[in-house]
Amino acid sequence: MPDVRRIAERLEALWRIRRGPGGGADRAAFSAAEAKAMRLVADWAAELGLEPGIDAHGNLWALPPGWSGPVVTAGSHVDTVPDGGRYDGALGTVLGLEMVADLADPDPRAGGAEGDEARPGALICAAEEAPRFGAGTIGSRLLVGTLAPADLEELRDGTGVSAAEALHEYLERLSALPRVEPPLARMRAHAEVHVAQRRALRRLGVVSTVAAPRRYSVTIRGQSGHAGEMAMEERRDALAAAAEVVLAVEAAARAEPAETVATVGTIAVSPGAVSVIPGEARLGIDVRGISSASVAAFDGAVRAAIAEIARHRGVRAEVTLRRAGEPVAMDAELVVAALAAARRLGVPATQTWSGAGHDAQHLAAIAPTLLLFVPLQGGESHTPQEGAEMSEIVQAAEVTASVLRGAIHLARP
Ligand SMILES: [Zn+2]
Repeated sequence: MPDVRRIAERLEALWRIRRGPGGGADRAAFSAAEAKAMRLVADWAAELGLEPGIDAHGNLWALPPGWSGPVVTAGSHVDTVPDGGRYDGALGTVLGLEMVADLADPDPRAGGAEGDEARPGALICAAEEAPRFGAGTIGSRLLVGTLAPADLEELRDGTGVSAAEALHEYLERLSALPRVEPPLARMRAHAEVHVAQRRALRRLGVVSTVAAPRRYSVTIRGQSGHAGEMAMEERRDALAAAAEVVLAVEAAARAEPAETVATVGTIAVSPGAVSVIPGEARLGIDVRGISSASVAAFDGAVRAAIAEIARHRGVRAEVTLRRAGEPVAMDAELVVAALAAARRLGVPATQTWSGAGHDAQHLAAIAPTLLLFVPLQGGESHTPQEGAEMSEIVQAAEVTASVLRGAIHLARP
């Protein structure tokens, strides 16, 4: 049984580490505050009899000492967005340890022979949140190899510090912990519980697909000129064309199923003077969906709309795909197992998707992975008001423990 008081105390301990000006959690990726949180979690893991260690990418592993057989892991992350919430990352981290406590008692029915039965451990991924370096899930992507250590040189924070330098300093802060090799080949299953970030989800969410962002940049070139002397019919205003593109993006996403969403989040205008007609506008588009076909339909519709806008406004438009993320399917058997466990335990649950990125979607490349969402209460996620109900947290822990218990006794495929 999950220990409700211990869960509450640990969430509070992480929350207290460092607070931002708005009163929220402030533990940026690879910061001193993230390292401090990792130390705290390592201490809690040691209390459970696990051996905590840090891998070269900054991820915390807490594994049964001396064990070289298969493992099942649970966990999330401890870094936060600026002025973030109490639950994002922290919840799955604290529940990961509860899971280990729950599963650690060996099952007398299993023979316990090494190489047959798996043992539980925790995996807490580093630098999951994107704001500091403009890139998220750094620890898990380094782990699975979709991000290379050399890429960290290119990622810089607002003060010019590279992610490589920040990781180095962060590892120094954690040098009291042993350095471990990630036991990737021994991972039989992984589970991450996360607070939901979409208010419409009102019951335990079993995630079957995670949308990956596709990002485009659009450059529109018109002609700049004097705001007082150029007649309206002569103009080739890049910003006015960009305004039509923004609306076209919105319309194209609205024409798709609700799971496909698109956002124009940035716009830069040149020369950017109040008395000069904009000659150039650059837009950044983010689109996410769980259906590749729907995202492809959106892509086609937006490209056609932009070509038409460029034609009737007499401007040139260039569309560049900057990042081609594809939706990631979570492990189908674990989804079925989680829905069945919820039914058995009387927990209201539903199959759902994630529009936000998570470590689980990357870890899915190396082990069958489960991602569960606890309904969001209080204010929005990524804000200090982010909330969750303890009764629903406990239900998520019970469902996850049940699924992982099954994975522990499964023969390795
Ligand atoms: Zn998170």
